[in-house]
Amino acid sequence: MKALDGTRLYFNRAADHLELSEDMRRLLLTAKREVQVQVPVEMDNGQLQTFIGYRVQHNDARGPMKGGLRYHPEVDLDEIRALASLMTWKTAVVNLPYGGAKGGIALDPTKLSQRELQRVTRKFVDELHDVFGPNNDIPAPDMGTDSQVMAWIMNQYQRYHGFNPACVTGKPVEMYGAPGREEATGRGVGILLVKLLGRMGRKPQQTRVVIQGFGNVGSHTAWFLNQAECKVVAVSDRDGGFFNPGGLDVPAMVRYAHANHGSIRGYKEAEPISNEAMLELPCDVLIPAALGGVITSKNVKKINAPIIIEGANNPTWPDADDILYADGRTVLPDILANAGGVTVSYFEWAQNRQYYQWTLDRVRQELDRVLTQSFDAVWEMAQQRQVSLRTAAYILGIGRVSRATVLGGIT
Ligand code: GLU
Repeated sequence: MKALDGTRLYFNRAADHLELSEDMRRLLLTAKREVQVQVPVEMDNGQLQTFIGYRVQHNDARGPMKGGLRYHPEVDLDEIRALASLMTWKTAVVNLPYGGAKGGIALDPTKLSQRELQRVTRKFVDELHDVFGPNNDIPAPDMGTDSQVMAWIMNQYQRYHGFNPACVTGKPVEMYGAPGREEATGRGVGILLVKLLGRMGRKPQQTRVVIQGFGNVGSHTAWFLNQAECKVVAVSDRDGGFFNPGGLDVPAMVRYAHANHGSIRGYKEAEPISNEAMLELPCDVLIPAALGGVITSKNVKKINAPIIIEGANNPTWPDADDILYADGRTVLPDILANAGGVTVSYFEWAQNRQYYQWTLDRVRQELDRVLTQSFDAVWEMAQQRQVSLRTAAYILGIGRVSRATVLGGIT
């Protein structure tokens, strides 16, 4: 299945509940603008390499378009389109004054030097600066990009349009970034899981958690849940994972990864385990926090966890999602579960426009408030309509976007 087919299916399910017309569906399923650009760069060895970059601006009915920029070898237009539409529903679910967009460049950032990455990023901005902008489309980090890449984007954008830190979010804190933006997605995943456990009458202390992915999202999720007294029993990254049924020493693993170029490969204090076996471990909560499309009809039957929290974007294919729902499992969907990142991006953007920096405490407090409100709204919707949390989140998000479209007027 292709990523876009999956998100369309989820969309149509919610659109049925909202009784949206065919015309409105077509409008909301189509991107406002899609750009593909050539990014030719001279590599450190003097050779010329040409990369392909994309930016899909899906919808701006509720505000400027917002979404990350992904550097990954498998980036293609279909995936970016799907992810751009998820951003539209995500910003609407958490009620931020934004639309949705997503971009990416098909490359493996681990194979490029920092100088090469900088050149690629600046070239990409050269091509796209006219469609970006604080009132149009604001990029942010996603898989394979970080605050350094955002700093280059800000700097390159300013060469064309003058000083304007609100043109991109997820920047380094020393360069107009917001304290707490880096941890925000993982922290948000953790906050939402604790809320969900509360609603389900479960205790964090009796909750065993497995996290697939130990990058920015996975590691901060593990950190937060460890502090919340959940038992993190397994974590993995692209090279495989580690398991300890008694609970991993999360701070030690985070320190290990920091000292080891971000990777947990070679960690000695827990039992190694493959990424496939991770999904099948006995546990209470499974958090896919890396790639999309990891829970499929092929492996879903082997998953033991009664609760799944989608830290990654689009990790569950619809056929697997149906099986999980029929089985009585609870899935907290990506468009709510990982919305902490874009929420703090919004705080950063708002601060940049006022040239005023909040404290970390304030960022954390406001994040908690936004996510709690959104979680409660999605939970109520699911109860009211007797649907899954995913369909409830889509109903909430799509409902807001379609109302804004009608209110704005279609001529
Ligand atoms: N890339 C993140 C996401 O998928 C963050 C987007 C943003 O901060 O704009 O939600």
